[in-house]
Amino acid sequence: MGRRHNALNLVLLSFCIAALCCADASAASMPVAPGVNLIAGAFVPGQQPDGNSVLIRAPHGLIVIDTGRHIQHTQQIIDFARQANLPIEAIINSHWHLDHIGGNSRIRALYPGVQIYASDALTGAMDGFLARYKKYLEGVIEKSPHDPNTQASRDELAIIDNAPSASPTEVVTKSGNRAIAGYPLVLHLESNSVTAGDVWVFDPATRVLIAGDLVTLPVPFLDTACPARWGIALGDLNNTNFKIIIPGHGPPMHRREFNRYRHAYDGLLACSHSTRSKNECIDGWLDDAGSLIPDKDRSYAKSMLDSYMDTSLRANPANIAKLCAE
Ligand SMILES: [Zn+2]
Repeated sequence: MGRRHNALNLVLLSFCIAALCCADASAASMPVAPGVNLIAGAFVPGQQPDGNSVLIRAPHGLIVIDTGRHIQHTQQIIDFARQANLPIEAIINSHWHLDHIGGNSRIRALYPGVQIYASDALTGAMDGFLARYKKYLEGVIEKSPHDPNTQASRDELAIIDNAPSASPTEVVTKSGNRAIAGYPLVLHLESNSVTAGDVWVFDPATRVLIAGDLVTLPVPFLDTACPARWGIALGDLNNTNFKIIIPGHGPPMHRREFNRYRHAYDGLLACSHSTRSKNECIDGWLDDAGSLIPDKDRSYAKSMLDSYMDTSLRANPANIAKLCAE
């Protein structure tokens, strides 16, 4: 089986594991700083996850950073906007994974003027990873067309089919200051880190940094990543004067917790390049991450890393080089 299939299986596997790991995660909106709220990405047993969404009150309306995957998640964003009596003016997508762009088209249907800021990496993914995933989903549905359990696959397919309306209206091609919905933010573009184009956001007024999947727990989600460049991107986050950093999956962190995450990431990478055994590398991650991973998630973290060691960290270097290429 080729790397592409492995990668696809891995996404599915890791998401299924994640689905089990965080079933009790709260999806309620949570204030992070004045004018900044988090809708935590929920993991429902047997379903794929939603990424975190961050909502920023701006002079012209609401800015939404990542829109989730499932309708229930996106509905919370829409409900928040309605309760706050604010139109959704802008979406910023940290990256193209479906748990971060899934709500774009739903929001756009309600707010047709919404501006969507993202890198152009979705285009490449539509021809590559998502084309293969679409084929896989169609196969699942074709096998059991009347099985109600295929609804999740149909929902996934709908997100991919709606991708044109989820695509950016403003392509982020470089890092820099932007006034979005009348609110000053700094957008940073990382190439070939978690995906071919990752955008992270710094809010200078509150010093909140929204990292997208450059920070994920209980492990780094390496499915489409260039591991080495991801490490470099963590250095870029570190060089920013943030007070709070919001991961793509997992609760907000302060500087000390981020330092711990970064140290654990660097350790994992170094271990994967050494002659140490896979289990030593996995245990090293769990030790280094320590309290960042609650006890109940540790065995799932172990299973996920077990896969990622084979399919990413110690995969065929030629395959990883493709993900790292400029
Ligand atoms: Zn994600």
